Amino acid sequence: MAKVTYSGVRESKPGRVNDLGSTGKEVEENFRKGCLKRADRSFAQGLQCQQINSLAALMSLEDAVFISHSPQGCVGCAIMAIDMYRVGQIHRGVRNVKNPRLIVTNLDQKSVVFGGEPKLREAVEKAIDRYSPKLIFVFTSCASGIIGDDVDAICDSLQKDYPDTLLVPIHCEGFKSKICASGFDAAFISINKYILKHQKIEKEEGLINLFAPTTVSYADQKEMERMLKLLGAKVNYIPFYSSLEKIRKIPAAQASTSICKVFADEFMKTLEEDYDIPYSHTVMPIGIRNTDKWYRGIAKVIGKEKEVEEIIAREHERIEPLVKKIRDRLQGKRVFICGGTGRSFAAAALIDDFGMELIGLETPTYDDDAQIDIEYLNGIHKDFVIDIANMQPFEQVNLVNRLKPDAFIGVPEWAAKLGVPTTHVLDGKRPTMGYDGLLFLGNKIADQLENPGFNKKLAAHSKLPYKDSWYEQNPFKYITEGGN
Ligand code: SF4
Repeated sequence: MAKVTYSGVRESKPGRVNDLGSTGKEVEENFRKGCLKRADRSFAQGLQCQQINSLAALMSLEDAVFISHSPQGCVGCAIMAIDMYRVGQIHRGVRNVKNPRLIVTNLDQKSVVFGGEPKLREAVEKAIDRYSPKLIFVFTSCASGIIGDDVDAICDSLQKDYPDTLLVPIHCEGFKSKICASGFDAAFISINKYILKHQKIEKEEGLINLFAPTTVSYADQKEMERMLKLLGAKVNYIPFYSSLEKIRKIPAAQASTSICKVFADEFMKTLEEDYDIPYSHTVMPIGIRNTDKWYRGIAKVIGKEKEVEEIIAREHERIEPLVKKIRDRLQGKRVFICGGTGRSFAAAALIDDFGMELIGLETPTYDDDAQIDIEYLNGIHKDFVIDIANMQPFEQVNLVNRLKPDAFIGVPEWAAKLGVPTTHVLDGKRPTMGYDGLLFLGNKIADQLENPGFNKKLAAHSKLPYKDSWYEQNPFKYITEGGN
């Protein structure tokens, strides 16, 4: 039977749900029975599209230019990745901090009628003329997809004119998927097709590919590398703050793992099929349980099961007295968590270390992996509300206002304006992961709870754009079941 090539659209695989309002127990049972229906919203407040995830995944690569073949507005969200890149350079000791070389072709009405090829050619030529990069990534958009620009053919013809720069088109048209992690897959599919090209290279003993998304802080990178080095591994940390040379080294690895559950998970399957690289896909290493699980997962793949148990025992001995001190400050506090698929479930497991109670969880996607997490969470927490939402802050403010948590862990803008103590879970600037990260995160949550003044003042002086009547309505009233 012919091998089916993965398209990069996450919805193309069965059992993935994007829009849902339910409870932990109900969603677990309905998923098990196969009764979760793919739904939609009759009203929605924007969506994180896959193009931004493709861009953000690669934006810190050295010697690269990033061309967005799109109208200008498509790169608006790039500001977050640009900020991470700039801060990440400072943390890594770079003195002359750079911006990423991001160029937008600025598709307009004329391009829609006559095609965007001239603008793309001009952008590539100018990029090479100005920067002489080793790599140019060309990101498609809704507009270039609707016009039907043949971006592959344009890059192919330009490649012949500019052999010293590798041109890599990435198909991340925003309309293809409502699951933003599809953007990561689109980027990795192109890396395999245009850079690795299915060529096997000599293996390097002990080398591990460690895949990391943009939001991982330098402190977390160092903690993950420290833990893997304790197992005797060498780490190829990619693609964040990486280079063409490090990407070309991917097939030399003995094993792969990822820091995030929805980052490079599909790519690691491809690496196993195309380059015989086994992988570990478990959880995000936030909290004791998840860090242990992540660590044991990769240790098993490289045959270090005995060694990892000795290290885990030592780490537990070191951190458990410190975790107890945090638990004394946080025991019994009720928490609402909002984050990406990897971080939200990991944070829900983390709060158990501190004796906190989960009352609400907002996450973008539900699938087989989420089901494993929910089964675990249902075993340790009482029933809690679950909102499967890519963005949709109007649902979040309704839920937070209704549930009145003691603490909010997640992207904090909206909950902070309701006066709830907040802790950022997507903290790309401070430690979050591994054994050291959980201590930092726990103390940060406790500090926020004991010093709530800033958010209280913020709530007193800011107004959210919703009528009082919205807070009395069902937060899930705009979710319509039965889409396909
Ligand atoms: S690619 Fe499409 S969905 Fe994404 S920002 Fe541009 S127009 Fe919006």
